[in-house]
Amino acid sequence: MEYFSRLVNRDYPLPQDFVPEDLVPCDFPFLASGDEEKRLLNARAAASAKRLVEYGKSFGCHLVGISGYRSYARQKELYEARVREAGAEHAARYLALPGTSEHQSGLALDLSCPAVHMELEESFADTDEGRWLKAYAPMFGFIIRYPKGKEAVTGYAWEPWHIRYVSKSLALYLALTGLTLEDYHKI
Ligand SMILES: [Zn+2]
Repeated sequence: MEYFSRLVNRDYPLPQDFVPEDLVPCDFPFLASGDEEKRLLNARAAASAKRLVEYGKSFGCHLVGISGYRSYARQKELYEARVREAGAEHAARYLALPGTSEHQSGLALDLSCPAVHMELEESFADTDEGRWLKAYAPMFGFIIRYPKGKEAVTGYAWEPWHIRYVSKSLALYLALTGLTLEDYHKI
């Protein structure tokens, strides 16, 4: 249980050699092919995400997996590329430093949909899929990890597409109270 509620952010990074247990490929519509690292998630998170996506389908929502697990080495590559392209300030605002990305935990998943051409952008929140995800993710153990208006607490810009598996009981508790995972760990 402690693994599922673990806080990962700039102040609480994961060790460079941290690799989650039980990584499995996601078995629902995903933009990446079966052997790509980013299609992997912790087994329990992957099973819950599959139920989430399938339940969404019954509402006419077409959620598609974009990015799950990301190794320390891959995050380092992405970060360094962004610094080269857009500068250090931009990279620091929009990307997690290696070790501080939740995607390294195997519990974070980015979802998108055809209405926004599978992009990870704020307009996802205004799609049927984005609205449905916000309402229903907690029933499957996921939270919208970086909510709007909580930038000062989470340290990240609003990301309506990024969900984090924390277990069903904790997700429902956080949804009911409006607390972020940072708030929860301060209690
Ligand atoms: Zn993400």
